[in-house]
Amino acid sequence: MPATSPPKPAPEKLSAPARALQKLGLRRDIDLALHLPLRHVDETRIVPIASLRDFQTAQVQGRVVDSRVETRSRRQLVVRIADDGGELVLRLLHFYPSNQKTLAPGQLVRVRGEVRAGFFGREMVHPEFRAVTDDTPLPRSLTPVYPTTAQLPQAYLRKAVASALARAPLAEILPPELVPAGLPPLREALEALHHPGPDADFAAIEDRSHPAWQRLKFEELLAQQLSQAQAQAERALLTAPALRSTGADGLEQRLLAALPFALTAAQTRVVAEITADLARAHPMHRLLQGDVGSGKTVVAALAAAVAIGAGWQCALMAPTEILAEQHFRKLVGWLEPLGLTIAWLTGSRKGKGRQAMVEQVASGAAQLVVGTHAVIQQDVAFARLGLAIVDEQHRFGVAQRLALRAKLDAQRLEPHLLMMSATPIPRTLAMSYFADLDVSTIAELPPGRTPIVTKVFADGKRDAVIERIRAEVARGRQVYWVCPLVEESEHLDLQNATATHAELGAALPGVGVGLIHGRMAGAEKAAVMAQFTEQRLQLLVATTVIEVGVDVPNASLMVIEHAERFGLAQLHQLRGRVGRGETASVCVLLYTGPLSPTGKARLQAMAETGDGFEIARRDLEIRGPGEFMGARQSGDALLRFADIQADAVLLTAAREAAARLLRVSPAAARAQVERWLAGRSDYLKA
Ligand code: ADP
Ligand code: MG
Repeated sequence: MPATSPPKPAPEKLSAPARALQKLGLRRDIDLALHLPLRHVDETRIVPIASLRDFQTAQVQGRVVDSRVETRSRRQLVVRIADDGGELVLRLLHFYPSNQKTLAPGQLVRVRGEVRAGFFGREMVHPEFRAVTDDTPLPRSLTPVYPTTAQLPQAYLRKAVASALARAPLAEILPPELVPAGLPPLREALEALHHPGPDADFAAIEDRSHPAWQRLKFEELLAQQLSQAQAQAERALLTAPALRSTGADGLEQRLLAALPFALTAAQTRVVAEITADLARAHPMHRLLQGDVGSGKTVVAALAAAVAIGAGWQCALMAPTEILAEQHFRKLVGWLEPLGLTIAWLTGSRKGKGRQAMVEQVASGAAQLVVGTHAVIQQDVAFARLGLAIVDEQHRFGVAQRLALRAKLDAQRLEPHLLMMSATPIPRTLAMSYFADLDVSTIAELPPGRTPIVTKVFADGKRDAVIERIRAEVARGRQVYWVCPLVEESEHLDLQNATATHAELGAALPGVGVGLIHGRMAGAEKAAVMAQFTEQRLQLLVATTVIEVGVDVPNASLMVIEHAERFGLAQLHQLRGRVGRGETASVCVLLYTGPLSPTGKARLQAMAETGDGFEIARRDLEIRGPGEFMGARQSGDALLRFADIQADAVLLTAAREAAARLLRVSPAAARAQVERWLAGRSDYLKA
């Protein structure tokens, strides 16, 4: 049927389904070949009508013996068909004249659907059907059902995939000895997954343990390992300024001496790891991970001091204005007394003020620049950027991290890059997956912290929770109340922050209740935060704008409403806003049932552990790693088929194969990366 085969017109004349294909990212033949079915339907055999069982889904073939429109309860087309041994009723509640034509008496039809016991014997309601002749062949393999969208009919997609699969360049790139034993060639594997024969092992296809799946996952992991190795090799060739710490009277020593606390052993160790990297003439690419409250900011400040002491500039970028402002205040407090100039760049700083900052950055007068995305805007040029620090790096898109690194291009030097995260990558993932990333970990909290007690309550306990707030405030403590959304959504029954603010204000007379949410202007948010910090407000009703980095040690109670709607990492981040001082802190997770199994697993994990690494491990378990790291903001999960945990054996095999392939055939290695990651390999370097 040439009319439905995928056309290849000029781009401006794409048909609706062709446009839908593009939208799904199915552009190259290989993209379509890798678009795997959700499941299959068996159209390879015809079941005799007499042998049908209730609730069986089956394909039958018979001649129409009767067809009539009935109007008893509602108008419907009722058709009887018969094969050699039995009769079956087909019932269509919606139908067109064309359906009546296909199902006219005397027609031979092939029908597929679920069998039910009907009033007049066995029947199928709304089966799939088509007219056939005695010699219409049966397909030899199962029919794939693909993930698709409304604009992209299944039949069109099937044809497009089948022809792309036939055309796609799937020749083996790998020397056979590098492929784990027992796995089929790639083309065979894909054919088996798209069009399995009727005798295929469907359980193994379903749970992805089939050799065809293994081959596909191995290919993907290999490409990922190769691109990491490639990124690492490329980075080794880049030059960065060697930022040497300047000895006993150097800036970072003076900062250390001025701090009101001593570094923990873990902080001292990671500072040493970072300063060793900075002293080298090639760019650092290091992730500093440490649980919420573990004290990463002071480590960043010490790294900045090394860079600045060596005569270079440092930029610190944070994902939100509130967080950037907190860093700014802290760094000003630590570094200005040492004679440094610190610039401040955020989206809300505009006009003359901004211009003055931009000039200070360009002239080098400002040694440290703190801000949001505004730091990487086009017109911001650094005189001598030596170190870029990105806080909560997972909240930035990859493109933004690349832009930051490009800020030094003019001098053909790369800045050192330090990324910080309170959402740790589990160790196995970090080691095996992100080969081009060095990781420093702070695994202890500063002394004097009391663990946070987490309680999970159904929303019915709300009044008791409000009483608890009253008691906490009476003891001179402060409280956060977190709501998921700002405005009433039509679809989701969410308490909105504004209504909650009013409700709590009424329930707690005499308590200063503030409100902060994402729709407020930056200055407005900062003003509310300042009031809370200065204890003029005791209760802060907030949306997730307070998720990262807010640091008010006097806050000892956090209530999270509709906790079931938050992700695990997000809940952990939120909880980390309390327990920052010496008082025992409590986090109350209020949920509205019924809970989904994952919702339940998340709340349970929160109640059971306060350890960010354990949380990350559970998160990975609940969600799978595809979403976990990498380019998730842009919607490109880095792995589509393999699962780092479940496929650990394949990952090891892929790592070894990558190393060997790079030795024996760099060209094959490049081809493999191109096949799998065309256009996306930049992502792996960021
Ligand atoms: P995070 O790692 O979540 O960014 P911060 O850097 O905000 O944590 O640190 C949390 C709090 O702990 C801050 O108030 C910080 O000044 C304080 N802090 C950091 N290091 C130490 C330390 N070694 N001893 C005592 N307090 C510390
Ligand atoms: Mg922080």
